[in-house]
Amino acid sequence: MDDRYSRQKLFYPIGNTGQTRLLNKHVLIVGAGALGASNAESLVRAGIGKLTIIDRDYVEWSNLQRQQLYTEQDAKNRMPKAIAAKDRLTQMNSEVDIQAFVMDATSESLSPLLKGVDIAIDATDNFDIRMIMNDLMQKHQIPWIYGSCVGSTGMSYTIIPGETPCLHCLLHSVPMNGATCDTSGIISPAVQMVTAHQTVEALKLLVEDHSALRKGLLTFDVWNNQSYTMNVQRAKKADCPSCGHNPIHPYLQYDQQTKVSVLCGRDTVQIRPSKQALSLDDLEKKLSTFGEMKRNPYLLSLTYETYRIVFFQDGRAFVHGTNDIDQAKSIYYRLVG
Ligand SMILES: [Zn+2]
Repeated sequence: MDDRYSRQKLFYPIGNTGQTRLLNKHVLIVGAGALGASNAESLVRAGIGKLTIIDRDYVEWSNLQRQQLYTEQDAKNRMPKAIAAKDRLTQMNSEVDIQAFVMDATSESLSPLLKGVDIAIDATDNFDIRMIMNDLMQKHQIPWIYGSCVGSTGMSYTIIPGETPCLHCLLHSVPMNGATCDTSGIISPAVQMVTAHQTVEALKLLVEDHSALRKGLLTFDVWNNQSYTMNVQRAKKADCPSCGHNPIHPYLQYDQQTKVSVLCGRDTVQIRPSKQALSLDDLEKKLSTFGEMKRNPYLLSLTYETYRIVFFQDGRAFVHGTNDIDQAKSIYYRLVG
C-alpha cells in the first residue's frame, strides 16, 4: 500500500526485479554542484542502496539558481555542498546509505572510495578531474556516465570499460564543450536535460538493462532546439593509453603534481598543501588579528585585504579574489607561514 516505489515498479523495464537490483547498488557521484545535486536527488528518490558523494566546495548565492538541493540558509552558512546535500537527501529518503565527503577529487582521494561501487557519475566541472576519473574507472572496470553543460548546451555519454570508447579515445575527435573555464553562463534546463540523460542511463545500468543504453554521445542545445546523438564506436583506439591493450592510465600518474589549481570561472585559487596543515581551531587563534573571521564546523573564512581565504578541515584553502597562482600562494604563506 504505502510502497514509495510502486510507480517505478509498474514501469515494466524496472519492475520488482529491477527495484531489488537498485536497492543493492552503490553509486558514486563526483561533484555536488548542479549536475551532482540533480542526479543525486533522482537516484536517492529512486531507491538505490548506497550513495557516495564528494565535493570540495561550499554553497554560494550564485549556486541557488540551478543547484536544486541547496537553500539560502546553506549559502548564508557557507555549508559544504557534500554536507548540505547529505542532509537534504536524507530527508527525501532515509533508507539510502549516504556517505558524503568534503574533499578534492584526486586519484588518491577517489581510489579508497571505489570498493563496491557499481557505477559512477561525472558531475565535475573540469577536464582534469574527468580524465583522472576516466583512468580510474578503466583501471577498476566501473561503468560511468560523463556529463557536461554550458549555456544552453549539454552532453552526456555512457562509458563501459571494455566495450565503448573511453573519454581519452574521444578527446581529439569530438568537440567537448565545457572543456574550458566558461564565461557564457548556464541555465537550469540545460542542467536538467543533462542529468535526465545521466540518471536514466544510470537506472538502465543499475537494473541491468544494458540493451537499452544509449549508444553514442548525446549533444543538445535546449535554447536552439537541437539534439544529436553522435555514433562514436569507431573512435575506440586499440592503443589508447587509458583503455587500450596496454593501458598506462597516464592521468593517475600526474595527479600528485596538481597541488594548486584555479577554479573554473570563480576568481579563486585552491591550494592543497603537502604537509598536514593546522587545525581550524589553531588557525582561528593564529589568524584572529588578520581580519574578520567566520566559522562553521567545516570551514573557516577570513577576510584579508581584498581577499577572502577559506580554510577547510582537510587542509585545503580557497583564496578568493585572484586567478593568479603565485599571488594566491604568497597570500596563503603570509598567513599560514
Ligand atoms: Zn580509450
